[in-house]
Amino acid sequence: MSRILITGGAGFIGSHLCEKLLSEGHEVIALDNYFTGSKDNIRHLIPHPYFEMIRHDITREFFLEVDEIYNLACPASPVHYQYNPIKTIKTSVMGAINVLGLAKRMRAKVLQASTSEIYGDPEVHPQVEEYWGNVNPIGIRSCYDEGKRCAETLFSDYHRQNKVRIKIIRIFNTYGPRMQPNDGRVVSNFIIQALQNKDITLYGDGLQTRSFQYVDDLVDAMVKFMKTPDTEIGPVNIGNPHEFTIKQLAELVVKMTGAKSKIIYKPLPENDPLKRKPDISKIKSIIDWEPKIELEEGLQETISYFKSVLKK
Ligand code: NAD
Ligand code: UDP
Repeated sequence: MSRILITGGAGFIGSHLCEKLLSEGHEVIALDNYFTGSKDNIRHLIPHPYFEMIRHDITREFFLEVDEIYNLACPASPVHYQYNPIKTIKTSVMGAINVLGLAKRMRAKVLQASTSEIYGDPEVHPQVEEYWGNVNPIGIRSCYDEGKRCAETLFSDYHRQNKVRIKIIRIFNTYGPRMQPNDGRVVSNFIIQALQNKDITLYGDGLQTRSFQYVDDLVDAMVKFMKTPDTEIGPVNIGNPHEFTIKQLAELVVKMTGAKSKIIYKPLPENDPLKRKPDISKIKSIIDWEPKIELEEGLQETISYFKSVLKK
């Protein structure tokens, strides 16, 4: 049994990870400032004898005695990370320094939740880990992209300089229950719009692509990767390589919900990547894992979840 800290533990992915690690018999401490997370995501875990919740902002130093850290604290939806871009980059960079300092003192293993965004608007397709990316350093997405890139640098340097036991994963578009209804990312937006028979807002021509991973597949891979020997530091892509256009996603959501919504076109946001698909051969060569839940099955779960949220 390990004592494990999850920063961003009240968020969408963080809350699923708390559940998974508790189910494996570990002690879990979730730290969150509730910027985009919610107490509702973890309320059911509060009575658990091995679960603790701490309200704290990761940009400020903290000290805890832990064996492992999963660093997830950071707004992930473009709407939310662009709301206060200076705070977003501080969260990635100062947050990384704080968790790495803690990992160094405790000799703890620390996993960074990095992102496919570090590839920017990629010129290599599908994206392999060796690709350095195509990121605009001064655009509206840079607070997130460059913050996450700098966090990867900090992780790599703490490893080289201080022998900190690091793991870097690059997560590709992940969706599922416990995304906030106002999250702003495409899957939750489309489902909420469809369930309310409102217009589906397709940005650009809808021909841009993403590859959508269901949250359970991600959490499974994260936990397995954390257990690998210290020599496996990554970075590794974690995603579902099945690629869809955003228009296909809109049509599928309308079909699955039986919505009367019509699809309307809105301008494509600045620097919105035109295509994205992970090459997952590296992670598959390290752990026994592959994504199991395809889009329709995952959407069914997510639609049921949002139906229950909208009923409240
Ligand atoms: P989320 O917004 O639901 O979770 C982020 C959590 O971090 C929230 O609970 C939020 O309140 C918390 N947080 C934000 N700033 C904080 C701060 N300064 N101090 C403490 N807590 C803070 O998003 P998510 O989708 O669950 O993403 C979790 C992590 O995974 C993020 O780091 C994100 O960048 C990364 N990621 C997610 C995806 C995805 O598709 N979901 C893709 C790539 C990377
Ligand atoms: N998108 C859209 N309508 C929406 C929200 C998003 O067409 O209501 C598009 C967005 O422009 C992007 C894709 O869907 O091309 C994925 O957007 P999201 O914000 O989910 O994540 P990203 O991968 O861009 O960070």
